[in-house]
Amino acid sequence: MKKFCYNCGAELGPEDTICPKCGKPVLVEAPTEEEKAAEKKKFPLKKIILFSAIGIAAAIVLTFAILMIINFAKTGYWSFDFLK
Ligand SMILES: [Zn+2]
Repeated sequence: MKKFCYNCGAELGPEDTICPKCGKPVLVEAPTEEEKAAEKKKFPLKKIILFSAIGIAAAIVLTFAILMIINFAKTGYWSFDFLK
């Protein structure tokens, strides 16, 4: 990424600590608002995996609960007979 002097706008080399044109010290760049926004948009992969795992676990529990309720309605007792 190209850097420019905050004072005169001259293009700076990556190693320049002072502006070659006006001699002002080169400021350490703070991330721009755009860059901050882009950083926020990136959804961390760890969270995706975590939420997927929670979602799958919840789906399995829910499926079992529904099957048990259906089985209870049919047989009148709570069991895992539907697994057979
Ligand atoms: Zn300058």
